[in-house]
Amino acid sequence: MAVERTFSIIKPDATRRNLTGKINARFEENGLRIVAQKRLWMSRQQAEQFYGVHKARPFFNDLCTFMTSGPVVVQVLEGENAVAKNREIMGATNPANAAAGTIRKDFAESIEANSVHGSDSPENAATEIAYFFAGTEIVG
Ligand code: UDP
Repeated sequence: MAVERTFSIIKPDATRRNLTGKINARFEENGLRIVAQKRLWMSRQQAEQFYGVHKARPFFNDLCTFMTSGPVVVQVLEGENAVAKNREIMGATNPANAAAGTIRKDFAESIEANSVHGSDSPENAATEIAYFFAGTEIVG
C-alpha cells in the first residue's frame, strides 16, 4: 500500500459546534496524520471555484452559501491509501445513508451540512491541496 495525501475540509456546521478536535481524533485514531492545517473563512469566489464541478447542479448555489457561512478548517491528511481511507472514515454524503461510526453519521446535520469534505481521487487531492496550501506549509 502506498503512502498518499488527501485534502480535507471541516465544514462550517462542524466548526460552529466546536467539533474540530473530535473530528481530528477520528482521523488520527484511524491512522491518518494531519500534516497541514489552517482555519479560514472561504470567499464566495473560492467556494464557487472549489466546487466548480458541481456548477450545473441544483444544490450549487446553496452549497456555496453554506460553505461561506462560517469558518472552515482546511487540512492535508497523510497515510496509507489516505484518499479511500478518509472517504471511509467520513461516510456517505447523505448522513441518512452513512454507516455507523462514520463522521457524517455521528456529526452531520443534513446532506448539505455534512461536516466534512474529502477528496474523491488522488488526482483531485493533488489539485485541491495545491488550491489551499503552498508546499512549504505541508510538513510530513
Ligand atoms: N450536496 C448537497 N446536496 C446534494 C448533494 C451534495 O448539498 O444533493 C453538498 C454536500 O455538502 C456534499 C457536497 O455538496 O458534501 C459535494 O457533493 P459530492 O456529491 O461531491 O459529495 P461528497 O464527495 O462531499 O460526499
